[in-house]
Amino acid sequence: MSTSTKSTSTLSVATLGTPRMGPRRELKFALERYWAGQTDAESLTATAAKLRAANWAQQKSLGVNVIPSNDFSFYDQVLDTSVMVGAIPDIYGWKGGQVSLATYFAMARGSQTAAVDLACAHDADGHAEGMPAQEMTKWFDTNYHFMVPELTSNQQFVLSSLKPVEEYREAKALGHRTRPVLLGPVTFLKLSKSKDLSLDPLSLLDRLLPVYASVLQQLAAEGADWVQCDEPCLVLDLNDADRAALQRAYGFLTAEVPQLKFMLATYFGGLGDNLEAALSLPVDGLHLDLVRAPNQLDDVLAKAHDDLVLSLGVIDGRNIWRADLPALLDWLEPIVAERGADQVQIAPSCSMLHVPVDLHQEAAIDPDLKSWLSFSVQKMAELATLGAALAGGRRSVQDALAASAAAAAARKASPKVHDAKVVERAAAVTPAMSKRSCPFEQRARTQRSEFNLPAFPTTTIGSFPQTQEVRVARGAHAKGTLSDADYKTFLREETSRTIRWQEEIGLDVLVHGEFERNDMVQYFGEQLAGFAFTEHGWVQSYGSRCVRPPILFGDVFRPSPMTVEWWQFAQSLTAKPVKGMLTGPVTILNWSFVRNDIPRSAACRQIALAIRDEVADLEAAGAKMIQIDEAALREGLPLRRSEWSSYLDWAVECFRICSSGVKDRTQIHTHMCYSEFNDIIDAIGAMDADVISIETSRSKMELLDAFKTYRYPNEIGPGVYDIHSPRVPKVEEMTELLRLARLRLADDQLWINPDCGLKTRKWQEVQPALMNMVAAANQIRATVS
Ligand code: GLN
Ligand code: ZN
Repeated sequence: MSTSTKSTSTLSVATLGTPRMGPRRELKFALERYWAGQTDAESLTATAAKLRAANWAQQKSLGVNVIPSNDFSFYDQVLDTSVMVGAIPDIYGWKGGQVSLATYFAMARGSQTAAVDLACAHDADGHAEGMPAQEMTKWFDTNYHFMVPELTSNQQFVLSSLKPVEEYREAKALGHRTRPVLLGPVTFLKLSKSKDLSLDPLSLLDRLLPVYASVLQQLAAEGADWVQCDEPCLVLDLNDADRAALQRAYGFLTAEVPQLKFMLATYFGGLGDNLEAALSLPVDGLHLDLVRAPNQLDDVLAKAHDDLVLSLGVIDGRNIWRADLPALLDWLEPIVAERGADQVQIAPSCSMLHVPVDLHQEAAIDPDLKSWLSFSVQKMAELATLGAALAGGRRSVQDALAASAAAAAARKASPKVHDAKVVERAAAVTPAMSKRSCPFEQRARTQRSEFNLPAFPTTTIGSFPQTQEVRVARGAHAKGTLSDADYKTFLREETSRTIRWQEEIGLDVLVHGEFERNDMVQYFGEQLAGFAFTEHGWVQSYGSRCVRPPILFGDVFRPSPMTVEWWQFAQSLTAKPVKGMLTGPVTILNWSFVRNDIPRSAACRQIALAIRDEVADLEAAGAKMIQIDEAALREGLPLRRSEWSSYLDWAVECFRICSSGVKDRTQIHTHMCYSEFNDIIDAIGAMDADVISIETSRSKMELLDAFKTYRYPNEIGPGVYDIHSPRVPKVEEMTELLRLARLRLADDQLWINPDCGLKTRKWQEVQPALMNMVAAANQIRATVS
């Protein structure tokens, strides 16, 4: 440890990790060209190296002095870790030695020749015929997806990729002494799965650690002095065995590689009841997420030993707001004075993988809003400014500080953000507004006589195939080469054809097909006040796929109806009911960058009121069934179990605010694209939708286990057709799933529908599949009547 003089002229400023795709998604395009066979591995690796070099140089020039390496990935850092330790399932045919790019991408996306198959807009699966990809799931509570490591009970680990060492060396050759990043061994194992259900992945820790030690030794031999080990599992609910595993892991690694210093990075929340465990680890530094959990700092300061280096994650790595730097300094200065500048590092709350690259590229965004935003590059500059002020005094960076304070003050006072009418309306919500006027059984009777549907009514989830033609027309319309009128004519034709076809095959409740929608959140965001959109604000979702989340910056209201015209047009074509189709407030919130100046629950309530207005207008226009999708309700669940109920309370309340203003005879539908909701089934019930459709076909109706003990009160359509696969399900497969469903649910509760919307499928797949679905419904009806 260096001596702790209480002020030095430099202070460590770290980034933890940076976006990989490049400012113009260069990596995405290079990957896709490579996968399409248009370029070779050499050209792909050259593009990657160029991006890394530019990224390192940029950090250095902006004043970051703890620059990460190995934060880059061709696909995913968890997959990189599986490959590094040789956790490669047999099906990939790996014979040992360095893992080839072909094997790596086979694990990522299935055999190279097969297409990547997309599921829901925001929840997609790598999927291929031939060789399947590894399973993919969400990285903590982000919209980044990682490849789930698959381990066996006789798993052996062996060092199979020197990527961390190679990237360290590459940076060194360019003059950068980096701090390599590794996903820590305990989080790696906790994220793993095994087909062998009796295997506890943590039991493999002792076999895994020597591989980590050998990578770390090689890094030290190359000259690394610090390493960043990411252990975000420390913000989850852990048990004693997990905590003991952390002790064992860091005891072992620090003893095996004593020449390296370890920065243990935790993020996405506070340490909470894992604080003591974290502080007892023999590491040299601890990174804290002080954006999500600012209050943990006092506790840490009180309990951390004096020479533990604290990395203070004060710039938001998960959101796009510019910080109020002088306010942060008021908080940080006494801490730096107390602990010493060499015992403190300034950092973003987590890797900046989760924010877009560079705000400078946004030419079209409102200039006021722009002055309140900060993307990865701007955040680096903010970090450096904080570091400079803490080391050399505020005067050394007074202009930057003044600009930051002015932006914060302007945002606080701006009429673009604040709308008194919206705030008043939200404050005036009464309990009656989130309650249907009579209970389900009574409404259901009214609705049944109103609709007179057959038993086991059939329907779909909303979208029909977004064909190449639909995308081309949308693109042309956006570019201005297709006129409004021609675009509308085109969409009307698509819609009419789809309505006619649904009638022909005998579906009972129709949808308009959603051809006019680019994305289920963006479509609404673009029509609501309070949302803005970027041109280049992409963040990685998985592999080469990026999303551009809307920015929710101000009070939300609905200037005019958003979907009524399309619904009216579709309904005018048929005597069968066509569902009004909306995205729910919780999903809009969870798939956006959300303002940080009011609670999420308050922002959500504003969206709920806007959707409530749309529901009312649809009803007034004659819609008898209105579906409000809450595809992302579950993924908004807090990481800690103890926080679930408060989230679910406001999330359910928001859904009810938008759905409860209707007459008894109006049927509210909702849809959710997942089946794991056994643990939130009460909340789902409390939403009190008249009909819910859910995903269940892939899990063979496993979901229905929840209904052993919980009697779902309303109507429900457990999906019988897996839309994530191009396969056309046979009639008997669907009748079998329905047989299982009927073991748990009453016949008069059951609807028949696919798992999710059909937009990612082809018409050739959808047509026979839905015809089989209708046939399955007819078969079941024949057996009960
Ligand atoms: N209504 C939407 C659709 O069918 C729902 C999509 C989703 O749940 N992800 O496309
Ligand atoms: Zn869905």
